[in-house]
Amino acid sequence: MSPEDFRRHGHALVDWIAAYWQRVESLPVRSRAAPGEVAAALPGSAPERGEPFAAMLEDVERVILPGLTHWQSPNFFAYFPANTSAPSVLGELLAAGLGVQGMLWATSPACTELETRVLDWLAELLGLPAAFRSDGGGGGVIQDSASGAALCALLAARERASDGAANERGCDRRLTAYASTETHSSIEKAVKIAGLGREQLRIIPVDDHFAMDAGALARQMAADVAAGFTPAFVCATVGTTSSTAVDPVAAIAAVARRFGAWLHVDAAMAGSAMICPEFRALQAGVEQADSYCFDPHKWLFTNFDCSCLFVRERGALIRALSVLPEYLRNRASESGAVIDYRDWHVPLGRRFRALKLWFVLRHYGAEGLRHHLREHVRLARWFADQVAVHPDFELAAPVPFNLVCFRHRGGDAGSEALLERLNGSGRLYLTHTRLDGRFTLRLCVGQTHTEASHVEAAWAAIRAAAEGTAAPAG
Ligand code: PLP
Repeated sequence: MSPEDFRRHGHALVDWIAAYWQRVESLPVRSRAAPGEVAAALPGSAPERGEPFAAMLEDVERVILPGLTHWQSPNFFAYFPANTSAPSVLGELLAAGLGVQGMLWATSPACTELETRVLDWLAELLGLPAAFRSDGGGGGVIQDSASGAALCALLAARERASDGAANERGCDRRLTAYASTETHSSIEKAVKIAGLGREQLRIIPVDDHFAMDAGALARQMAADVAAGFTPAFVCATVGTTSSTAVDPVAAIAAVARRFGAWLHVDAAMAGSAMICPEFRALQAGVEQADSYCFDPHKWLFTNFDCSCLFVRERGALIRALSVLPEYLRNRASESGAVIDYRDWHVPLGRRFRALKLWFVLRHYGAEGLRHHLREHVRLARWFADQVAVHPDFELAAPVPFNLVCFRHRGGDAGSEALLERLNGSGRLYLTHTRLDGRFTLRLCVGQTHTEASHVEAAWAAIRAAAEGTAAPAG
């Protein structure tokens, strides 16, 4: 494709995306595709001859679009958001166009230094401890996901707890990790990948608000030490996946410190809210953490993938992950004056992801971001207020951020039927969880263009659908 053709097709594609964003609200939010339907519309083999770009765009419209769930719809209230924005998409395009590989400082100094600076900005914006900044002994790095970030934190914890022996000889099954019944499954996955063994993961109970019981954590760690185990890693969550419950970070930090365990704080979605100072009390104690993760690709208007991991002591991460083959040696690395992010995560190669984050931060400004996040929380609380006073519904958990967990009083069957009816309508999309063993609906407000009218329409649709589905009580 010549530069002229690229310009022409690129303009057409940007026009298509802009038009998509304008019409996305009118499309059924959850895809109606049946299993295999999209694949059946695609040829069984790759084309032998090159095809015109226009044909690809036509197929996007004809084949791909009906197979999409529209995460950017303002009526998307499911899971957690994956909100994006125009500056982010343009940053992504630029990163692809520049096509640089930032595995080492030397392979593109700007790729590393922009990332370092933008993550320092974010550490400051989130009110994270100074130690998490690059000039404080630690620093931030963009990872592919909160799951990958947790794995890296766990590997650093494993090496710290074993004095580097696990890297040399493998895990000896004496290291233990701790999470709650509500912790995201990525921690269990990380424990398996890191070789600790699933049996070495202790699952701590939660309180009435689904937050980790720090007393139970302390008792479990004491029992483990008495039995000859070494507590290596504990994950506290700020904003759990099911209900955005907030673990008591300060109390957990005190326990972790007493037993010498690494404390990782997983604030995958809710961390974005910390840009607003009024939410920071919810993660008091974070200054004691060894690592902290949040995903701008969830609730900070930055498209996938962009997960930020901050560590207190970068040496711990680097010691766990660094391997140095001859072909990567260079003078800048050996000078010790530069960061080589390849040592901060699992992959070697890395994209220029800082560009989109930089564009987002500069486009909105901290003030603009705070405005949008506060508005999402305000809308979620408005919705919770409606639920709380309606005779047919009840709240199922506190609402500290932008997620409302609620139930139909008709019981599990009523709530489940209601969910299917709503999602089948195409007008909105919610998902569910189980809290206290009961089927619970989740409405999460976090899409870039969700406004009061969308949340009001969602509430009206939920009430209308409930009138047709109310199951007998009990
Ligand atoms: N941690 C929490 C609390 C989450 O809610 C999620 C996803 O929803 C994750 C981790 C995993 O995020 P990622 O997809 O970035 O790995």
